[in-house]
Amino acid sequence: MSNENDIITPGMQDYINRNNSYLAKRSQYIQDEVKKWKFDTIAVHGLYSVTDAINDYQGSIIEPIFMSTSQAYRDSDEMAAALAYKIPTWCYSRIANPSTYYYEWTLALLEGYGFDGETTCCSTSSGMAAIMTAVQPFLHVYNTPAEPRNFVATAQCYGGTFQQFSIRLMQERNIECRWVLDATNLDEWNSKIDENTRFLYGELPSNPQLSFFDIKAVADLAHSHEIPLICDSTIATPALLRPISHGADIVVQSVTKSLTSSGFGIAGAVIARKNLTSKFSDDELKEDFALNVKLLQNRDFGPNLHPLQAVMSLNDMRTIRSKMDLMSRSTMKIARSLNSHPQVESVQYLGLPDHPQHELASKYMWLVDAEYDELYNKPVNRYGHLMSFCVKGGAEKTRGVFDNLKRIWRATDLGRIKSVATIPAISTHQQQGEEGRKKAGIPANMIRLCVGAEHPDDILADLDQALNAAK
Ligand SMILES: *Cc1c(COP(=O)(O)O)cnc(C)c1O
Repeated sequence: MSNENDIITPGMQDYINRNNSYLAKRSQYIQDEVKKWKFDTIAVHGLYSVTDAINDYQGSIIEPIFMSTSQAYRDSDEMAAALAYKIPTWCYSRIANPSTYYYEWTLALLEGYGFDGETTCCSTSSGMAAIMTAVQPFLHVYNTPAEPRNFVATAQCYGGTFQQFSIRLMQERNIECRWVLDATNLDEWNSKIDENTRFLYGELPSNPQLSFFDIKAVADLAHSHEIPLICDSTIATPALLRPISHGADIVVQSVTKSLTSSGFGIAGAVIARKNLTSKFSDDELKEDFALNVKLLQNRDFGPNLHPLQAVMSLNDMRTIRSKMDLMSRSTMKIARSLNSHPQVESVQYLGLPDHPQHELASKYMWLVDAEYDELYNKPVNRYGHLMSFCVKGGAEKTRGVFDNLKRIWRATDLGRIKSVATIPAISTHQQQGEEGRKKAGIPANMIRLCVGAEHPDDILADLDQALNAAK
């Protein structure tokens, strides 16, 4: 990120040397210690160490919340070095901040758990900002008039993603989004790629249909065209799935959802492998994508995460593994039970053997470190806490069931510690119209349920009374 023509004074060089030695020590610490920890230890500590706390933060055991807009410098040399990005500082909180720094490192390390390369992270103000941050750098125009540009994405995706791709990119900027209708069909992916395809994009498991695809096969396909694979892995969280270790180049997370689960606000993240594949990008972008978009693109667009939100979200993420285990087990119990309920037409859950992608998901979705867990002592599949079911009797009856829920909250939210339900056709997927919903497989009698950490029997009882009460 440096410019060769920059003048470097001896004073600046001192700062640069000091920082280079700090960065070298940090790499060593990550390599020698942090990378050897189990997942839970990384989730609890991240890069925030006792040494950091004692030396810099008055011994505070929780990462400090720096609500300040900017940082002061010792002298002009330090300022010049910082603003030329020769040293990593937090010149201005739109660009970097110590609180978001720890949030970013925890997420980079969790998504990179079990992967032997390096990963870095750029925090964003939301999951949607993460998606924008991740795709934007691949959409450069090289010629006037602009050459045709396209990208290939799974049609089964979050409603907001559908809007961003089809309205903001396709309609407003003439960048073609080629939707893959059956993401398990590699030929379909392949047939949509040409020399103007900038990247492949896949959400898995998708919200709300829980469709899945073969990450490794799609990543190999992307790389054979020298383009990256970007995955939205929000529904799984790194506790159940880490796409980068299967070949994906970039992961986007809506940290708002299961990663935090408390419901205290919106947050997002882009996590990328170092040295990713992209024939449309320069070496600096490929070398450290997340740092590059953080310091350049997002400096200019400004979709930064608030430091208070960063530490609140970070605090929630410390228990992600045990929460995802508990909520996945409860969801399995509820899905099985609803599957034989007389008022239920069908249940969609990746954990059920009759889900079309059950086998594929079983290849990829594992509770991290179950083999080191005394309860299990072996790898165990976990499928997350999002499921949906279709009610017998059509759209009106479905609204009746929904309106009769007492314990389960009616909200267009998911990933919560409290069970939450919605009817996608009239909420999250309302904007895309009947045609779009058909493409994405969202019938009007579908209720999306995200199971929280309550006792599953209480949730089942609520569902049962609602299903039986509705006319
Ligand atoms: C919610 C969600 C998003 C968007 O995240 P926000 O934090 O709400 O901006 C993106 N992808 C998936 C799968 C989601 O569920």
